[in-house]
Amino acid sequence: MRGRRAWTWPVLALAELLWPERCLLCDRDPTRAAWARAGPRVRGLRSWDRPHLCAPCADHLAPAARRCSLRLAGGARLTVAAARTEDAPLVALVGALKYHGIRGVAWPLAELGVAAADLFAADAGWPAAALVPMPLHPSRRRQRGFNQAQLLADLLALRLGRPCRPEVLRRCRATPQQAKLAPTGPARARNVQGAFAAGPPPLGLAEAVLVDDLATTGETLAAAAGALSAAGWHVLGALVLGAAVGLGRAPADP
Ligand SMILES: [Zn+2]
Repeated sequence: MRGRRAWTWPVLALAELLWPERCLLCDRDPTRAAWARAGPRVRGLRSWDRPHLCAPCADHLAPAARRCSLRLAGGARLTVAAARTEDAPLVALVGALKYHGIRGVAWPLAELGVAAADLFAADAGWPAAALVPMPLHPSRRRQRGFNQAQLLADLLALRLGRPCRPEVLRRCRATPQQAKLAPTGPARARNVQGAFAAGPPPLGLAEAVLVDDLATTGETLAAAAGALSAAGWHVLGALVLGAAVGLGRAPADP
């Protein structure tokens, strides 16, 4: 893998610089519309990354934030704040980021995430909460070259003035991708059972908000929240860009 990346990275950088930037959703180029802006280059965002999203498409993705509530093992509930429903344009952008390495789309996606963060604003503990990105297993992290949830969490942490603590949660077991498993039935829950381990909170920082891209069934979020809780964290909830329509059918407590 290291050998492959040694030559693919310069090629990708050159292609990104020489190839005209196109909007991922409507395919127009920057001469035909205003353009979404690049933001701060947190770790993982390179000098040649560009947003690949025109302003009209970014406007079309306007947030419609909503809360869901997931039932955890033992009867506890986890609040999931989503910037919008998981729909085709959002899935396309997240897919471009995760599977095609178009990292610059993290900028407009993180802006979308701010709307989800607003849903936590009135919650006790939110002013002191750390953002904890959903980790990848080290093997997948090496294969992908970055963790998209950490890119989003780092950008949101800067935007919101919060600490980002990726080191407290790790994925200790490599699992098949949830997206490749049936969306109903026990397969997804079994797949991530025991897949996470967390370290204890440091002094003065006990609240955590998980950050991830999409929540389809919520099983991965539930497993990660369980690991953080077992390590002594108070998990306020999870912040995602998109949640599936049926996620958490019971409304969250007011
Ligand atoms: Zn567009």
